[in-house]
Formats: sequence, C-alpha cells, structure tokens
Amino acid sequence: MNFDKLADLLFPNITKNIEDYMQIYPRRNITGEVTRLAPSPTGFLHIGSLYGAIIDYFCAKKSNGVFYLRLEDTDDKREIAGAGQIAYDMLKYYNVLPNEGYRGELSPIGEYGPYIQSKRKEIYQAFCKELVKKGRAFPCFCEKSENKEDILQRREQQLEESGIIAERDVCRTLTYEQIEKNIKDGKPYAIRLLSMGDADKTFEFNDLIKGKRQVRQNIKDVVLLKSNGMTPYPLAHVVDDYLMGTTIVVRGEEWYPSLSQHLEIFNALSLKPMKYAHTPNICKYDEASGTKRKISKRKDPEADVRYFIEKGYMPEAIVEYLINLLNSDFEQWRVNNPHKDVLEFPFSIKKIGSNNPMFDMVKLHDVSKNVVARVPANLLADSIINWAKNYNPKLYTIIANKKDYLTEILRIDRENKKPRKDLGSYDEFESLFSYMFDELYVPISKSFLGADKNTIKNILSQYIKLYNEGDDKQTWFDKIKSLCEPNGYCADMKTYRENPSAYKGSVADVSGIIRIAITDRENTPDLYFISKILGQDKVISRLKDTINRVEQKS
Ligand code: GLU
Repeated sequence: MNFDKLADLLFPNITKNIEDYMQIYPRRNITGEVTRLAPSPTGFLHIGSLYGAIIDYFCAKKSNGVFYLRLEDTDDKREIAGAGQIAYDMLKYYNVLPNEGYRGELSPIGEYGPYIQSKRKEIYQAFCKELVKKGRAFPCFCEKSENKEDILQRREQQLEESGIIAERDVCRTLTYEQIEKNIKDGKPYAIRLLSMGDADKTFEFNDLIKGKRQVRQNIKDVVLLKSNGMTPYPLAHVVDDYLMGTTIVVRGEEWYPSLSQHLEIFNALSLKPMKYAHTPNICKYDEASGTKRKISKRKDPEADVRYFIEKGYMPEAIVEYLINLLNSDFEQWRVNNPHKDVLEFPFSIKKIGSNNPMFDMVKLHDVSKNVVARVPANLLADSIINWAKNYNPKLYTIIANKKDYLTEILRIDRENKKPRKDLGSYDEFESLFSYMFDELYVPISKSFLGADKNTIKNILSQYIKLYNEGDDKQTWFDKIKSLCEPNGYCADMKTYRENPSAYKGSVADVSGIIRIAITDRENTPDLYFISKILGQDKVISRLKDTINRVEQKS
C-alpha cells in the first residue's frame, strides 16, 4: 500500500507536518521541570487533581521550571460549561497557580498554546497523518456500523482462534481501493493505531512513584481520531505533552494500565517520551461497608475541592494536609518550622508512597487547627467575616461590622509561642464563641461542676461585688482566690476529686463556676480577657441572670 497516498486521501486539507509543528513549538530552553495539570472540564476540580497539582507545583517551582494548565475538553458529551474556569479558580484559591496556560476568562499565558484541546484539532490530525504515512495508522469503518454484539462475537472468535483477544481491528486489512470506495460512499470512519505490540512481551518501565515494573506491550489498535473529528486521550496526550515540552507527566493511577498504548504512539512517531509519575488514589474509610475505597465523585462531597471552602477551611490547611499525604515527613518539618513557607519544605516526588493514602477528616481538622493557630488575629477576623458573607448569612449580619471586636476575641491566647488550637474551620466560630455575642448566646447551664444551688449563688453574688474590669490580671486572680478556701469553696476540683474528705462544706471550682455563669462553658480561652472584652456591664448582667436562673430551678 502506498501510505503517502493513503495519508493524502484521509487528510487532504492537512498541509502542515510534524516538523512544521516542531518549529512552531521549539524545545523549551530551560533546565527546570515542566509539569502540567490537564483536567477535563466535566464538573468540579477533584481533590485528586489538587493533590496532583501540588506535585506539579512543587516540581516546577523548586527547579525554576514551568507548571501549566491545559484543558482537556475533547469529550464534549461530558463537558460542563464553566468547569474550566472553576479548575483555574480553584488552583488560584489553593495557591498552586500554574505560571502558564489556560486561565479561564483571562487570556492564556505562554507560547505553547492553544491550551484547550478542542482548539488543537489540526495539530492532532497532522500527527495522525504522519502515523498513516509511516504505515502505523489506518482508517476503521466498523464502530458506527457494528453493534456491541458483533464486536463481542468477533472477539470470541479471535479468542478461539488465537487464544488471545488481540483487539486488532478487522479494518487493518482493507485495501486502498476498498478504503477509497468507503470514503466515496460517505461512510464515517475513525483512525486507529496499527499496534505492533506482542501480548507475550513485556518491557521494564520506571515510574517516578511506582518504581520499576514490567509492563505488558500494547496490542490494542487504539482510536487516534474519532469519526466526529475529536481526538481521544492517547494521541492528544502524546502530541500535547510532547509539543508543550512536559518533562514529567503527573497523572492519576487510572492511566497506568493504558501507559503502554501511549508509549507505543510515542515510539511510532519516533518521539522520546517524558518521565511519568502515576499518583495513587485518595481513599476514604467507607462507614457503610467498613472498607477502604476511592473517594467517589458521586458519593463524597469532599471529592469537590469547593466543599472545604464552604466548610470554612483555610486553603493552606487543605494544601498542608495533602502535602502530609504525599511526603510523610512534612508533619515533623512543620513542627520544627512553624512559620516557614511550605515551598521551603524539601518536597520530593521520590518520597511519595505508592499505596493509596487515606483521606481522614479528623486528621485534616487537626492539621487545620495548627494552621489556623499561626494566623494573626486581624487576618483571621477578615477571613471569618468574608467566609460568613458567603456561607453563613445569619452570622454575617452579626459580625460584619465588628472586625475589631472579632480581632480582640481571636487574639486571646494567640500570637504567642504556644497559640491556642481550638478553631479548625470558620464554621466552628459561631458555636465556639457564641457567648461573645448576645444574639447567639442561649445559656442552658445544666451543670455547675456539681456545686449546689447555694454555693453557686454565694460565689456569684460575692464575685459581682468584687469584679472590676479595670483590675490587672493578678488582682483579678487574687479576688477569685479570695472566694476559695478557707471560705468554704474548693478552688481546685482535681484536688477535691483526689481527696474529697479534705474539704468540708460546698465543693466547687470557683473559677469554673464563674466561667460557666458568664459563658455557659466549662472550657474557654482565658476568662480574664473574655470578661474584659465583654465589658463590666455584660459580665455583671450575665452573673445576675445566672443567679436568677439557678434560683428558678427546682
Ligand atoms: N484529562 C485527564 C483527566 O482529567 C488528564 C489525565 C492527565 O493528566 O494526563 O483525567
């Protein structure tokens, strides 16, 4: 068969060849790594994509390379409008922004575009034409006319005859004349790779995450161009990552089984493939079945990275948690370097384990508490107000104009060497600090640490007389102590529990009772500061209200 003639028959309008494209997209003149995130715009940005993007970002940043974003929109049936913009916005929000490529509404950056696959059809066709010329691709007229049953029957027959399903297409053997006739008759066709692989042979492949493994040669005549002119993943990946100069393809584990197809296409085009890093799948513990499973797009809200924004997690917290899953020594590094930029962490692709990591919300929350604890109070106040504006309108009406008040609250026990770690996500603010806002404060005071009615009343009424918001901390503390022993109230519940008989009369933790009277909580940040922020009048009225409530209780 004259393949040049066939190539011209199939692609009469394609005039550029792959050398032309190599000139248009010359090899990059940089030594750093070139990485990319290549999401399909099918909805939202998956947590697994953010996980991959962190690897891309680190590899490019640390080597002074390039991290670019490419939109893989070749499957228009699955495409959801606006999803590309969401992907870009999310990378921006999580601070792992690519420095080249697609940018949603903004014009793209870079010399290697278009960065949207649907705008690269001609380029794919030129590469496909080259494969036809080399005798490594052929037109296939089956798909449309054959129904599923015919295909299955054909495969069974293959299996019987040769013992393997070669996936080798029947159209391989069509003559030029038959092809020409089919085309004249207007029959739709796809272009397939003519695989030369051997099912019994393997080759060694060194994946940056999975390590060295034996991989079976490809034997599938994969579709390179569909009859509708779209290019499925294999050829689009090879062409784009080659021309765009990618040096490491970081992509999900689910692509590993088709790796040999991609490598065969590289080989057929005489192009050198880049390095690959197939990332393990993020899993979770499934309560219902009691097993570990992949985080599911359909079942798990946390698959969509917008979920964490809605819950009020700081982007840094999610990123730090994901780095933890990638490089397990990050946690200790962070303990040793609480204020360093994450980019200073010695991240390495080699430290990524090949086991599927477990996504654990409890652990994430813990990491997040550490991250939030490092944030200065005034910035945190801004973030909480912003978050409430979008996700908690009721809270927003209460705090919108109270930034200074919020800052004072958040400053208690913060901005010191051992900051308080109680807030993990902004959505906890309301319940954690409801007592600081009359609009949110609904005391129930069921328990006063086991103290009896008279004790509570005595302590609180004496404290009302003593409390003065102008007192310094020591004076305030001394006043509380003066209400303790030897006046009959135990200052220390722990001591009491250990040796109850040592105490006569009422038993209660004096400061605990005062705390509950003012905040309705057994645990709060420093009561001295809370009282000062609430102010003398509010403290006294809360104490009085509590006395009334206790009196009304039978
Ligand atoms: N578009 C593919 C996906 O969203 C990307 C795979 C790749 O990174 O190469 O799964």
